[in-house]
Amino acid sequence: METAVAARPVAVVGAGTMGSGIAQVFAASGRQVLLLDQDEAGLRRGMAAIERSLDRLAKKGTIDARAREETLRRVLGTASNEALVECALAIEAVPERVDLKKSIFRELDRAIPKDAILATNTSSISITELAAATSRAPRVVGMHFMNPVPVMQLVEIVRGLETSDETVRETSDLARALGKTPVVVEDRPGFVSNRVLMPMINEAAYALMEGVAAREAIDTVMKLGMNHPLGPLALADLIGLDVCLDIMEVLHRGFGDDKYRPCPLLRSMVAAGRLGRKSGRGFYEYPAS
Ligand code: NAD
Repeated sequence: METAVAARPVAVVGAGTMGSGIAQVFAASGRQVLLLDQDEAGLRRGMAAIERSLDRLAKKGTIDARAREETLRRVLGTASNEALVECALAIEAVPERVDLKKSIFRELDRAIPKDAILATNTSSISITELAAATSRAPRVVGMHFMNPVPVMQLVEIVRGLETSDETVRETSDLARALGKTPVVVEDRPGFVSNRVLMPMINEAAYALMEGVAAREAIDTVMKLGMNHPLGPLALADLIGLDVCLDIMEVLHRGFGDDKYRPCPLLRSMVAAGRLGRKSGRGFYEYPAS
């Protein structure tokens, strides 16, 4: 590749909640971004989400009209892998299913240059396992952004068993160039963020199930007592109860330790379709506005 790495585009695969946010922050930092999704509708939703998010920032006065336009212009939505031949980094942000992620990784491994970094935004799947589906394990790394991406400061950089020090250094520098703070962690179930957060949410669900206190009381204890901006049950509704359950299953399976067993109340709520904000009802009710 002739072009300097910093000038080459970044590809983001999956234009959903996280992918659109990741594309936005890279474009806002001055990088050209290729945004890919499985279909036109997915791409349209992703581009519309970026536009809405930039509008909110413009309304608050965080960015001006010119920055809004320039950021939007730097994001190119595409359905074709051919555009990937020049990129320096591809970040995968498709749904949290290991087989899907492996097949995307195999495709990206063929499509992007040999020196490019292949990153995943997975919340819990093993980086080492995804890297084994490619021919470039030293260039595979986790870049775990938090939701909402334009707002949250942290990027958890996850080092797989074969990830090179150079790849960890480059992705940490990239996160800093976005104005984020990288924290490097090893590839263990749940990394650090979800290994610590999810058992707290799960325990709050147990406390509710056992009648220790009402939902509002549990959340108020954690908000006022621990200075958390949201209580664990309200936070679970924001994340999605299905996502919380999936991550608890990963922790339970990954460590083989019953201290991570998912709360039966969480299981039945997911089975009933009470998934949190996105379905209108979780631990709380969210009437359509
Ligand atoms: P999402 O469902 O909002 O978006 C996924 C996108 O991927 C959709 O636009 C979908 O059309 C697209 N997609 C599906 N199959 C595809 C394919 N074969 N090729 C290209 N695109 C495809 O999901 P999300 O919440 O953005 O989560 C994405 C990843 O980020 C997951 O691994 C998740 O665990 C992780 N994550 C999510 C959060 C969160 O709070 N939502 C936080 C951190 C990490």
